[in-house]
Amino acid sequence: MSKVLWCEVCQKEVQPRIILKDEMYKYKGETIEVNAKVATCPICGTELPDDELDGAIMEEVQRIYMDRMDLTFEDIRNIRAEYGLSMELFAKILGWGKATVVRYEGGKVPSSSHISILKRLKEKPEELENYYHLNRDKFSEKEQVKIEKAFKNMDSEVIERTLIDVLKRHYNNHEQTIDAGFNSFSVDKVIQMILFFSESGVNKTVLLKYLFYSDFLYFKRSLISMSGLSYLKYKHGPVPLKYDLLLNTLQETGYIEIDEEDNEDFIRITIKSNDEFDEELFDSSELEVLQKVKEFFKGYGSGKISEFSHEEDGWKYTELNKIISYDYAERLQLD
Ligand SMILES: [Zn+2]
Repeated sequence: MSKVLWCEVCQKEVQPRIILKDEMYKYKGETIEVNAKVATCPICGTELPDDELDGAIMEEVQRIYMDRMDLTFEDIRNIRAEYGLSMELFAKILGWGKATVVRYEGGKVPSSSHISILKRLKEKPEELENYYHLNRDKFSEKEQVKIEKAFKNMDSEVIERTLIDVLKRHYNNHEQTIDAGFNSFSVDKVIQMILFFSESGVNKTVLLKYLFYSDFLYFKRSLISMSGLSYLKYKHGPVPLKYDLLLNTLQETGYIEIDEEDNEDFIRITIKSNDEFDEELFDSSELEVLQKVKEFFKGYGSGKISEFSHEEDGWKYTELNKIISYDYAERLQLD
C-alpha cells in the first residue's frame, strides 16, 4: 500500500500522483534546473509537500551544483587522502575546523569560498604548502615534522606525474596511426614491458630490440601493437622513438637503474628494474609474446641481436632515422 498525503484544497487524505516536472532552484547563487518528481493530488492537481521527494530533489540539486563547480565528493575525499594527512591536521593547515572537513567528506556541500580552495588543491596539490607556511607557527614541533614529511612524499609524486605526462605528450601525436601500430600510447604498458625484460639486468641495445620485437610480433599476430610505441631505424637496428627520454624518465621516477660501465673502447649500459613486473595490464596473448621474445633471444648479445634485426625488411627498407611502419610486421622473422 503506498502512502497517503493530506490535500489542503480537497481537505482529505489522498494517494498522491507522482509527476515529473522541470523546476528551477536557487542554490548558493546558482540557478539549477531539475527534472523533479513531484507529488500531486489526483483530484485537484495541487502539489503536495513530500519530505522524501523533497530530500531527493535537494540531493539532485547539490549534485548538479557540485558538477557545475567541477568538484565531486569523491574528489574532496581524495584531496586529503593524497597527502596522507589526518582530518585534524588538514583542517588546521587550511585554518578550518575539523568538523568542517568531517562534514565535507561526509557529503555536505562546501561554501563557495571553500569550494574554490578545494578545487585549487585538486588541480595543484602542492599549493597546500603555501597555506601551511602561513600558519606554520600554530603547529607543534611534532606536527610540523609530520606535515613536512607528508609534503615531501607528495612532492616526489608530483614530480613523477609531471615527468610521465611529459613522456605521454611526446608520443601522443603518433597515436592510432600505422606508425604506432594503430594503438594509443600506453605509458603504463611500456613501463611494465621494460620491467619484464630488465628483471635481472639487460643490455640497453638488447632491451630496445626486445621492445621492437614485442610490439611488432604482437602486431603481426593481432594487427595492433602492444604499447603504441613507434620505432625508428637506427644504425644498430630498430629503437623506440625518443628512447633516451623514455629510459631517463623511468630512471628519474625510480622504476629502473641505468648503469654505465666505461671501458677503453666501449661503454656498456645496463638497465636493471627496481620494481616488480605486474602482469595485470596484459592479456594472455600479450604475455605469450613477451615470453616468446625473451626465450627466442636468450643468449643473444647486443652485436648478435643487432645483426639479426638488420635482416628485417622493416629495417632494410626504411630510411635512417625514420619511423619503421608496422606494415613490415607481416614479414617479421619471428612468428
Ligand atoms: Zn486535492
